[in-house]
Amino acid sequence: MNIVLMGLPGAGKGTQADKIVEKYAIPHISTGDMFRAAIKDGTELGLQAKSFMDQGALVPDEVTIGIVRERLAKPDCNTGFLLDGFPRTVPQAEALDSILTDLGKAIEHTLNIQVEKEELIARLSGRRICKTCGTSYHLIFNPPTEEGKCDKDGGELYTRADDNPETVANRLEVNMNQAQPLLDFYEAKGVLTNIDGQQDIDKVFADLDALLQGSRS
Ligand SMILES: [Zn+2]
Repeated sequence: MNIVLMGLPGAGKGTQADKIVEKYAIPHISTGDMFRAAIKDGTELGLQAKSFMDQGALVPDEVTIGIVRERLAKPDCNTGFLLDGFPRTVPQAEALDSILTDLGKAIEHTLNIQVEKEELIARLSGRRICKTCGTSYHLIFNPPTEEGKCDKDGGELYTRADDNPETVANRLEVNMNQAQPLLDFYEAKGVLTNIDGQQDIDKVFADLDALLQGSRS
């Protein structure tokens, strides 16, 4: 069960990743976790990654790919893995293919959790914060009892600049442009499945689960 999980910010990727790895008992491999583990273990590549991160620089592909190679070679990946946040680009996807070929493996599923842009903007721009006590609300997921007012102290709720719908839309646009070539890459390989992420969380997982069950050998 070798999976790449994709989805734009706000699509619910993290929630579904947790559910998949629990049900199928495979490791959840995210770039951040991989870097942290390599740095903690003091591997050569981990130290290289750390030196870039300490300078506030992007970790170059060759280092990232090396870390992915080490991680995927570990025995807990023998029955499968779920990659989250890697690959991000077509060259990374090509490098991943070559790593997997060396290991006698391949990506079986690229699962893309799809949510319309308008819905993502609503999800990502819904946060409101109390000016008085800092309590955080969300217009969809955790709305205050009275619009615009804190439940605890009646304080005025405001929107952080980062959560402004226009800022969110611009950020999403960048993410969509980055993801599209990767989706095309996996589509061409015949492993891409789009999952409707606008349903409730359990229904999204039921769809993912049905697909994975169907492909179990
Ligand atoms: Zn408050």
